[in-house]
Amino acid sequence: MDCIFCKIIEGSIPSRKVYENEHVLAFHDIQPAAPVHVLIIPKKHIATMNDVQAEDGPLVAEIFAAARHIAKELGVDESGYRLVNNVNADGGQVVYHLHVHLIGGKKLGALIG
Ligand code: 5GP
Ligand code: ZN
Repeated sequence: MDCIFCKIIEGSIPSRKVYENEHVLAFHDIQPAAPVHVLIIPKKHIATMNDVQAEDGPLVAEIFAAARHIAKELGVDESGYRLVNNVNADGGQVVYHLHVHLIGGKKLGALIG
């Protein structure tokens, strides 16, 4: 499958991993928008949030659990951080493998724009 994040999961494209378990992988964004910018992805290929099914509920919960863990590990849990999921073209989605951005390490600006 021609999916850059599936290639990161299988290891054919390198990444700077920050967290991994059976179902979820997290790695530093290649073009960080803030001092902390990590992408959290399911190992299962799901294109967008629109494609999440009811049975993926535990997987989505694992993504958020990973986010909490990583925020603490990287020292932004108390200062604060933002979780972002871009969906399709108007949402700014570029990579069509579900991912949550964990962004922090600085005071973030307004959300909308
Ligand atoms: P999107 O706009 O789809 O929500 O975000 C995709 C993100 O993936 C972007 O922030 C981009 O910098 C990041 N990205 C794209 N290709 C790679 C890659 O090969 N490695 C890593 N680590 N990040 C990538
Ligand atoms: Zn994929």
